[in-house]
Amino acid sequence: MCSTFLAIPIIIFVLNIALLVWVARDAKARGMDSAVLWMILVMFTSVIGLLIYIFSRPQGNLIRCANCGNNRLQASVKCPHCGSA
Ligand SMILES: [Zn+2]
Repeated sequence: MCSTFLAIPIIIFVLNIALLVWVARDAKARGMDSAVLWMILVMFTSVIGLLIYIFSRPQGNLIRCANCGNNRLQASVKCPHCGSA
């Protein structure tokens, strides 16, 4: 029973890390220079920071870059990862 209570904070911690990684990857894919700032904001404000991020990020579909395989905005002129057009 004790291990169940121990597991809950660990699960929350892991989910938080996963969320921060997602924000960083999503911000990078959208060509934002401020990925680290958004990570810090979400780390301290959690869901509120996540909502602010989702509304203020460049909107549009993410597609897989044919050159490097990372996600990039469909409307972007250049891939933020490899710089290919
Ligand atoms: Zn690329």
